[in-house]
This record gives sequence, C-alpha cells and structure tokens, in this order.
Amino acid sequence: MNNELWNEFSRLPIDSPKLRQYQAEETRKLLLYVYENSPYYKAKFDKAGVNPYDFTCLEQLADYPTFDKYEERESQAQSLKELNHPLGMHITCDIRQVNRMSASSGTTGTPSFQGHTKNDRQVIFKNMARLMDMGGCKPGDKVLMAGVMSMWVAGIPTVDALLDFGANVIPIGGLVGTAKVAEMIVLTRPDIIVCTPSFALNLLQKSQAEYGIDLAAQGISKICVYGEPGGSIPEIIQKLEAGFGGAKVFDMAGGTGALNPIFTSCTEQDGMHFIAPDECVIELYDRETKKVLPWQDGAIGEFVYTGLHRECGPLIRFMDGDLIQVNLKPCKCGYPGMRIKFVGRVDDMLLVKGVNVFPTAIRDTVSSMGPVVTGNIRVVKPSASPVVEPPLHVKVETTGELSAEQQAELIDAISAKIQRQLRFKAKIELFAQGSLVMEYGATGKVKLIEKAYQEE
Ligand SMILES: [Zn+2]
Repeated sequence: MNNELWNEFSRLPIDSPKLRQYQAEETRKLLLYVYENSPYYKAKFDKAGVNPYDFTCLEQLADYPTFDKYEERESQAQSLKELNHPLGMHITCDIRQVNRMSASSGTTGTPSFQGHTKNDRQVIFKNMARLMDMGGCKPGDKVLMAGVMSMWVAGIPTVDALLDFGANVIPIGGLVGTAKVAEMIVLTRPDIIVCTPSFALNLLQKSQAEYGIDLAAQGISKICVYGEPGGSIPEIIQKLEAGFGGAKVFDMAGGTGALNPIFTSCTEQDGMHFIAPDECVIELYDRETKKVLPWQDGAIGEFVYTGLHRECGPLIRFMDGDLIQVNLKPCKCGYPGMRIKFVGRVDDMLLVKGVNVFPTAIRDTVSSMGPVVTGNIRVVKPSASPVVEPPLHVKVETTGELSAEQQAELIDAISAKIQRQLRFKAKIELFAQGSLVMEYGATGKVKLIEKAYQEE
C-alpha cells in the first residue's frame, strides 16, 4: 500500500478512542461552522434544542436532527427561487467558490444537486486514491470508464478523481451501449473497467452471444463496480470473474454528502471496508425508534453519515435511504476496522406478511440456483404501497431449453429456496433467456421492480 495516501486516523477501528476523539473535535468544528454560517442550520438546530457550543463528545451527535433527500430537495427548490442556484438554503460557502455541480440520480423524483469547491474535490480525490490503492491499482493503469458519464456524482466526478490519481483514463461512458464498449475494450486493452455490476453482466452476455468478442481474452485485471449491490454478491462476482478471464471484482460505494467514495471491498471480497473515518462520521440508525444502534457484528440499520470537511452544503446526519449490515470480524486482508454490506434501499423494501423483502435479495437467492438461471429477475409490485399480499410475483429468466417437467421442478426449487432464505411465499414465472430485457435508470442502475399499476 502507498502510505502517503493514508494517515494516522484513516486505518483505525471505528471504536478506537483516538479516532473518536479526532472525529468529535472535527464534528464540533463543523457544527459550529454551519451554525454560524448558515441561517438554515441555525434555525434547524435551535428548533431541535441543540447548541454546538455545548458539543463535547461524539455521542451527542445523536441529539442533532437528521437530514434526508426530501428536506434537501425542498431546501434546493427554495434556493433556486430565492438565491438563483439549486444547491440549497443549507450551503455555507460563497456560491462563487463552487467549482462543479453534480446531480444525484433522481430515481425517486427531481434530482438533487451537490456543489463541490476545489477543496471538496481534493477530498474526493483522496478518497478515490485510497480506494484505488486498496485494489492494488497504480498510476498509469489504463482505466476504461463505462459508467454513465454525466454530471451524476459517480460519472464525471469519478473520472476527475481517476485523472488526479494518475490513471490513464479511457472515458467512453456506458451510454454508447454495450456493443461500442466491447469494441473499445478490444481496441484499447484496459487494465481496469469501471461500471455498474448489471452493465458488466449485460456486456458479458451480449459480447458472448451477439458480438463474438471474448472478454476473457482482453487482459482486464480488475472490474470496479458501484451503484448496485451486485459487486458484493458471490454468484455475480463469480460470473463476472469467469467471464472476464479471472479479473478481480472490487465493489465501491459512497455517500454523496460525504464526498464519496468511502467504502471499498478488498481482495477478500467479503464486505466493504470503511476507508475514510478521518473524513466522515457514520452512524447506524433505526428509523422507527429514531435511535442510533450500537456497532455490533451482524447489526442492520440505516446508513447515516456526516462528511466532516465539506465546504459546500455540508450535510449533517444525512440519510440516503440505504440499509447496511455491519461486519466486525477481522478481515483476512489485514486492513483494520469495520466492514459493511449494503442490504437494500428503504424505498425498495416490500412488506410481505410482515417480512421485509428486498428485490436485490431475491435476485441474490435466484442467482444462487446456478447456470440454469441468467440472474435477470423482475419483482412485480401490484400497487404503490410497499405492503404486498403473498404470493409475491417474481419473473425469472432461464438459460437453455427446459422441458415442462424441468420447468416445474425449477419453479418448485426457487419457491422453496425463497421460502427458506427470505421467508415469504413467491409465485415464480419463468421466461426464456433474452425476454426479460434489462432496463436501466438514469444512472445505469438496473430496475428490478416492475410496476403493475399506473403512477400518479
Ligand atoms: Zn479486507
């Protein structure tokens, strides 16, 4: 590892007193800064009855109000009207200091915007460089960027950070389609490709079936994926690594408000390490009880984070709607501290007879049936409500020709496995390979839910 990229705090365990002391000091500075520089935060803190001048330890952060995307959107609609910019009433820097605007995916409505000052961009560069370092990447590596190349936070900002790291970036972007990306891989022979896991799977399948391109023979050594849980699912990792000739899959994730990325998997591929504890305070939160959960091995909660050094629009206790599971067991790679796994989105969660069900978990279970399925699934959601009466209708794509008998057996096997692992009753419908067309959202994330109702 390149020691220059890491500091005395960046590799400390989450509960290290030294780290907590440092985080408490930086959090206090941040709270005071926003309290004094943002009428928005001052009003918000006063209303909640908290005063940053009384802040002495990290536990007190739990008394501060959270911030979510709905509040962010409202604040941004207001600033657009009153201040002629969409960065929100909560930004604290001079608007002329903003060096780049990014947008979040907007999968659940109007996009939200993030401004980055020059210093904010430096923090992103540092986080990205650590991530590349953990994956054994070096300056000069050819990195083909096949993610959606847009103002989305994981688009151009990622390219920007890769350039700063010194990578030889091939910024083709995923919007040109899999055929063009496959051709460009043959023509440029990248060491690393960056994209969403579903794009990588689709690229693989199409290259084999339609383009006659063997991606296993192109010398790719690493696939860095983000945006979806696929990069942490063993069956998907195996499929990608086999198809790309043994290239290693690395999963990365972040929080837009914390100047992402802040999590990455290592060569052990067993959860993502938190690589920026000196830049970000993270909390595990229970939305129902509004309580912070202790860091216990196996605990699941909502991911709440506070980027410590963001100049434009600091987000105090921001919740993106992601649920994470904590892993405190030591990692074989030797990197200290906690690992996490993203288990689903609060928004995508369905309730089937009182059981929490995530479409990604269904895909995970279906994918584990082996080569008889492609891994493409659709979960049919009957109404806008997350509450679904069982059985939950799941469409599953299969490979090859199956007899009526084989189909019936497969349906029984999948239903039984879902019942056993996910504890709900499913109605499985099989589809031939290629008939469940993968649909992508604006950010290249695959859509797993099929709405069987009209949206308002
Ligand atoms: Zn590790």
